Amino acid sequence: MSLFENTLKQIRKASLLMNLSSNVEAVLSNPERTIEVSLPVVMDDGKLRIFQAFRVQHNSIRGPYKGGIRYHPQVDMDEVKALSTWMTMKCAVVGIPLGGAKGGIVMDPKELSPRELEAVTREYARAMTPFIGPEMDIPAPDVYTNSQIMAWIADEYSKIKGHNVLGVVTGKAIETGGSLGRDTATSQGGVYIIEEYLKSVGKWPLDSAGLRPVMTVAVQGFGNAGSHVARLLSELGMKVIAISDSKSALHCEDGMDPSAAIACKVEKGQVGECTPVGAKCDIITNEQLLALPCDLLILSAMENQIRADNAENIQAKIIVELANGPITPEADEILARKGIPVIPDILANAGGVTVSYFELVQNQMNYYWSLDEVLGRLKPIMQGAWRDVKANADKFACTYREAAFITALRRLEAAITMRRGR
Ligand code: NAP
Repeated sequence: MSLFENTLKQIRKASLLMNLSSNVEAVLSNPERTIEVSLPVVMDDGKLRIFQAFRVQHNSIRGPYKGGIRYHPQVDMDEVKALSTWMTMKCAVVGIPLGGAKGGIVMDPKELSPRELEAVTREYARAMTPFIGPEMDIPAPDVYTNSQIMAWIADEYSKIKGHNVLGVVTGKAIETGGSLGRDTATSQGGVYIIEEYLKSVGKWPLDSAGLRPVMTVAVQGFGNAGSHVARLLSELGMKVIAISDSKSALHCEDGMDPSAAIACKVEKGQVGECTPVGAKCDIITNEQLLALPCDLLILSAMENQIRADNAENIQAKIIVELANGPITPEADEILARKGIPVIPDILANAGGVTVSYFELVQNQMNYYWSLDEVLGRLKPIMQGAWRDVKANADKFACTYREAAFITALRRLEAAITMRRGR
């Protein structure tokens, strides 16, 4: 089953539970606009290479489209459609006035020189200029894109427009109009949700008196989302026992120092080279990491990581999706049967788009907030979203994923029916 079909299946399940209008379900099951372009770029060897690229604008009923751009060899239209749909749902779950979009370029950025990467990015910005802008569609970083890439897009777009348009992208560096707290926002938002979940089951605050065992954490993916969440949870007193990247995983039975692991990953390029960051460390595979006994398993890499064929192996007590779509619908059912709660992507990782929204607001005002102001605004939004999702989970006796979709779909339904009367 394709990723977009998985997404439609999630919408269908929630629709049935909440009795969503079939017209609204039909509208939300189809992206408003799909864009596919070819980007011709002269490579360092003088040869021309064509890169295939996408942007999908799923729905804008609640505000301008918003969503990241992914550079990955496996990006395709199906994946981008799924990711854009989740963006619409995510913005509605946290109640921010934005719609959903996503973009991608088919490439392995690790194989390109910095000049080639910049050339492809500027070509993409030129191709997308008619479709993006602070009031239309605002891209941001996603897998294998970062603040440098956002700076090139803002620069190219601004050159075409003839003036500096800071708010055309978010996830920018502070020097180029970024917001304080955006780099850690996805993880910080996830941590606020974990706190609320633990409160709801009587396990928060964490035990400082040593009466209960320290909570253990395994983190798949050690990029923006994964590395910051490992550090933040460790600062709260949890024990990070495993991390991974695309090459391998590092398991340290007695825990590790995530800050040392971050520094080591920057220096050596892979977590598998970082055994000195903890006690009793050994190298394992990503599959083995997923099956480790632990309190919290944080998925922060790619989609389809827990599937029907490996869901039975999961021993974690709680799973948190910082990545988008890391669990298939079939695996969801197995995990529910095993009694493992899943805090879903459209809730758990919504801190990223929330602070992206703050960045856009600050760009438009040309007035910037302190880190305390950013976090002071993020926390109540995440707490409110948790309360709404939890209330729906209780009301409909359903999973947190179904409840998050119900929360989003109700808000989208209200906007669609008030505006369009259907
Ligand atoms: P990133 O900074 O590019 O990091 C991706 C990480 O995943 C890297 O450590 C990469 O390993 C690892 N990885 C890639 N393929 C893998 C595989 N097959 N198995 C295990 N690890 C793998 O990306 P990111 O921004 O953290 O995004 C990660 C996930 O979070 C994505 O699903 C993204 O959509 C989602 N997300 C991100 C944000 C955000 O603000 N960044 C917001 C919401 C959701 P290498 O280091 O070896 O390449």
